Parts: sequence; C-alpha cells; structure tokens
Amino acid sequence: MSNVVASGKVVLFRYTLTNDQGETLDSSDGGDPMPYLHGAGNIVPGLERQMTGKAVGARFQADVPPAEGYGVRDPDGAKVFERNLFPPGAHLAAGMQFMVQDQDGQHMPMWIISVGEDQVHVDFNHPLAGQALHFAVEIVSMRDATAEEIHHGHPHGPDGHGGHSHSH
Ligand code: ZN
Repeated sequence: MSNVVASGKVVLFRYTLTNDQGETLDSSDGGDPMPYLHGAGNIVPGLERQMTGKAVGARFQADVPPAEGYGVRDPDGAKVFERNLFPPGAHLAAGMQFMVQDQDGQHMPMWIISVGEDQVHVDFNHPLAGQALHFAVEIVSMRDATAEEIHHGHPHGPDGHGGHSHSH
C-alpha cells in the first residue's frame, strides 16, 4: 500500500478549477496532466492536503477555503505607484504580474490592476485571494521523486529524465 500520494512522490493529475459561481477559472483539459512534487508546496495547501493518501485513478472534488488557497484578501494590498517607478519602455497592462523587492530584500509578487498615464494601480493580493476554490481532480499517475527533485523542491518533467538543467 505504498502507492498513494505522500511526501516525496511526483504526482501527475488533471484538474478543473471553478469558483463559488461555478465559473471555470483554470483547467488542464486538453493538455498533459500536471506534475507536482507532493509535500513541497508546489500547489495550494488545501489541495495538497486533500491529495494526501489518494491512489492512482482516484477522482474527487477538493473544496479549498481562501485561507488554504491563495489567502484571504489583505485590504491594504492595493497600492498606487508612479509610472516612472517601472522600467522605461516596459509594456504594462492589467493582469500582468511583477516581482518586487520590499525593504528587507524579500521578493514578492504584485499584479497590475490598471494603468493610467502617470500612475499604475497594483494589488499585492493574488487575483484569486479571498476566493473559495473547487478542484475536480483525477490522479493520473505517480512515481517516487529523485533525490535531485526533492533537493530542488519541484519535479523535473513527468517521467523524471526531461534533461532539465538549471542552478538554484
Ligand atoms: Zn530543478
């Protein structure tokens, strides 16, 4: 009974993500199943928790509250920046994600809400913050992660020999 989802497994799954209104937000439909390394925080915590112990072929619904998804909305997350704080010539558009550094040198993501002539409205909340997430999941396959994958904290291709090389 070792072939169930647990830490150190690379799991391939298909999913459709809907919100409380039943609108599809994201889906693996039509593409390859998505690989992730279980126990490494590659997917939102509430989904990872509900994956635990599932076997290949399992189909289930995972309902994830905001706190276990992309977080609750921080009302102070919305900011207005001067346009000239962005690189000159950078193409800026609503929905784009930027990484910025805070005073402590921590990298954090922000999303552009709207772009004005002199000012850019941004939000440090993930676009799905504050939303309950409903995943329809099918577990397609799984395998043991390699030592390198566990060291990196992410899978290197679905079958583990995708010729992936990088340094981090
Ligand atoms: Zn890697």
